[in-house]
Amino acid sequence: MHVLFASAEADPYVKIGGLGDVAGSLPAALLEHYRTASPEVSLDIRLIIPYYGMLHKQGLEIKMIGEVHIPTISGDVKAAFHQVIGASVPTYLVSGDPIRSDDPVYCGDSAKEAEKFIFFSLAVLRLPEILDWRLDILHAQDWHTAVAVHQLKSQRQKNATIARTKSVLTIHNLPYMGTGSEPALKNYRVKPSADKTLPGWARQIPLPMGCAAADKVVAVSKGYAEEILTPAYSCNLHEFFLHKKDHLQGIVNGLNTTLWDPSTDVHIAHRFSLDKLVAKARNKIALQKELGLAENSEIPLVIFIGRLDQQKGIDIAVEALDRLGCHGFQTVLLGSGNATLEQACRDLQARFPTTARACITFNAAFSHRLYAAGDIILIPSRYEPCGLVQMIAMRYGCIPVARATGGLKDTINTTSFNRTGFLYKSLQSKSLENSLLKALSFYARPNDWKAIQERAMRVDFSWNRSAAAYAEIYNRLISTRIAGQSK
Ligand code: ADP
Repeated sequence: MHVLFASAEADPYVKIGGLGDVAGSLPAALLEHYRTASPEVSLDIRLIIPYYGMLHKQGLEIKMIGEVHIPTISGDVKAAFHQVIGASVPTYLVSGDPIRSDDPVYCGDSAKEAEKFIFFSLAVLRLPEILDWRLDILHAQDWHTAVAVHQLKSQRQKNATIARTKSVLTIHNLPYMGTGSEPALKNYRVKPSADKTLPGWARQIPLPMGCAAADKVVAVSKGYAEEILTPAYSCNLHEFFLHKKDHLQGIVNGLNTTLWDPSTDVHIAHRFSLDKLVAKARNKIALQKELGLAENSEIPLVIFIGRLDQQKGIDIAVEALDRLGCHGFQTVLLGSGNATLEQACRDLQARFPTTARACITFNAAFSHRLYAAGDIILIPSRYEPCGLVQMIAMRYGCIPVARATGGLKDTINTTSFNRTGFLYKSLQSKSLENSLLKALSFYARPNDWKAIQERAMRVDFSWNRSAAAYAEIYNRLISTRIAGQSK
């Protein structure tokens, strides 16, 4: 089975957010799944990402394997393909003028982004001809590669090399759909979607175009797959998704459980595990010392880690913490992003200098120390397609107080004998406040708290189950193709 996994990011080459984690882990997890659970199928999965300027500086050993011309209304643009030597999952990089070497991965200019990612999407579809490789399944991620899915559908009838290729499109974050791509689509001669169930305004926007064309659409949790059928979360596409309901499935992301393991984590001072949970408290003391907070392992430490963006609801957390006066607990907020939200965090520290800290930076090593030290993590997201933060925190015995949305709802258990965290529904800060107070009341009962921690640390967040669910989709797509052929 030949699968091409197309993404704008993939760890360890390029990671900006959760998409990088997924594209960096899922192909390898699928290889492992087929090797162990379905050895009768030989999976040949390959990864393709843009050759960003930042990748030129990584000292990767690469080999140029060919080039194609991508037509535009003003002439052809050359796309070159490079193979990364020694990659465990075969990896290809695409270069060409629209992928400027001095631009960041995401530059924030929608016209430039559209030129770059539509060019990349069109190049993705040409890799099989360069490799003389039969493509069975194209697995695209988010809007950046959705146009490849759209073009695949429109070219399947005319092009023998892709005539039998099936497609999967995973939605990691629906609101980022590639709005403003119309001029770039015209430039690359990509026709609008002809799908009548898609509202007119969405027929020239990459993510909806890809969703309309894909043989299977996956959202990164069951909760999010249900939410995008509703007006509150669908970005006005709920009627379209309701039409496509049979093609839509939710599969929660897995976690890199080797990287996020408190028993082996090189970034933390005191490693710990289920049977050595007492060592977790030493990490709290170390962090309190590092940040100039009172050193006392009994004071509950309430943390936040995330992008400072409206989506993540940090403003709601600040409001709740403010009302509680950061009294009876300490709080550390780690994040960067929107300037107003960054200032709101700094202001909280200024108001409660003895108990609150705002760490306005992106610092991966520090995040490990914070997960290891924290008792409670606040995740007040307005929406959360999947979320990794809650899974990482639980592995480190740091208990989530989270809004019941998307992947948070799916991964946090609140039933009395299986509780792994605390969920609340409303966007009002009062609801978060009440949920935090409830968590603190459990914290005050050490045996109850330890039981929650142990359960949270035991949850299997590895990729195994999710890889099996994606494999089932691949298998089904291939078998429908075979069934279609025998008719
Ligand atoms: P999203 O992909 O929407 O940003 P996720 O919860 O899926 O949210 O993933 C966020 C990832 O980024 C987690 O691994 C989290 O630890 C990390 N992260 C977020 N903000 C920071 C920060 N300021 N410093 C270090 N790591 C961060």
